[in-house]
Amino acid sequence: MLDEQFVKQMPKLGFGLMRLPRVVDSDVIDVEQTATMANMFFDAGLKYLDSAYVYEGSEEAARNAVTSRHDRNTFYITSKLNAGVAKDEADAKNQIHVSLEREGVDYIDFYLLHALSENNVAKYDAWNLWDYVKQLKEEGKIKHYGFSFHGTAKLLDELLTKHPDVEFVQLQINYADWNNPSVDSKGVYEVARKHNKPIIVMEPVKGGTLAAPPVKVAELLKKADPDASYASWAIRFVASLPGVMVVLSGMSNLAQMEDNLSYMKDFKPLNEEEMKVIEQAMDILASIDQIPCTGCHYCTAGCPMQIQIPDIFKAMNMDLIFNKKEEAKKRYDSATKEPHAKASACVQCGQCEVQCPQHIEIRSWLKRVSEVLE
Ligand code: SF4
Ligand code: SF4
Repeated sequence: MLDEQFVKQMPKLGFGLMRLPRVVDSDVIDVEQTATMANMFFDAGLKYLDSAYVYEGSEEAARNAVTSRHDRNTFYITSKLNAGVAKDEADAKNQIHVSLEREGVDYIDFYLLHALSENNVAKYDAWNLWDYVKQLKEEGKIKHYGFSFHGTAKLLDELLTKHPDVEFVQLQINYADWNNPSVDSKGVYEVARKHNKPIIVMEPVKGGTLAAPPVKVAELLKKADPDASYASWAIRFVASLPGVMVVLSGMSNLAQMEDNLSYMKDFKPLNEEEMKVIEQAMDILASIDQIPCTGCHYCTAGCPMQIQIPDIFKAMNMDLIFNKKEEAKKRYDSATKEPHAKASACVQCGQCEVQCPQHIEIRSWLKRVSEVLE
């Protein structure tokens, strides 16, 4: 288990290495800019770097820009085992060796089972990956293990009850999703607190959307503090929650690093008045028309057309809540790639609505989605 003192002294901002800067006009990661960002990060007294086996090029960039240039004792680095992309159990268990080699280290500080949810937890169970991470710890290949999570509060409770030795959890928490039933940040946060697990926060700025929030929220935040960036409100909110050990920010350029460091180097939690502003922002977001889908996937198993209903609804919410039609269309296209069908392919059989615990009128929403996003 992670020592209480260790958790307390951990610097709150983590450098997410998933959206690293690219060389101009190319997809190649800009190693030198990444190295400069890492230097700024370390100079500010911060330590935690987040990567994963499936983040393309990220682990190699971590080696070239960071681990080969800094003393191993001055940073923490993570990786994640992703059963979803593995051919079989042996392939999944081999990922750690690939990650160690790519990151250029001989141990990983925080190793996570990646992106657990109702959809994939059976695979992690069947391949004994829970025992495997314990074995890796005993062998000294990792220091601590936990998991990142995208499912419901109910499943999180079950997993933490079944695996009490898990040392920490990584959760999607941000003020837009705090009361949003499809992510239920508040629900999963409360479960993690109940089990007394240190929390690593991912998506504090909701994939960058809270850096440019809906107009009414933007006006509210600017009025409260004209000098503070929108992202600062989002990051400081999650970093202020009790039990949060690290907040991951996927910084993509020097300006973002500078902005993050300006309020996280000497982090001050939101005061009572600022917290009230965030509550008002939550109320504004809640008043916006959106689909109350929790992403539980109960509706998808029996769909004769293999329509990925929750992923389609997530894409639609991106347009409804954030007015980001291009981003919504991109997400919609990815959710409806073969073998999955488009919303317009729905044959109106209605089996999904019988399964839906939120009583969503799925058929009529799918019709509306097809009109907006196809
Ligand atoms: S009503 Fe449409 S979405 Fe629902 S199960 Fe039938 S075909 Fe699938
Ligand atoms: S059953 Fe309802 S809440 Fe669950 S994923 Fe399907 S639409 Fe969303």
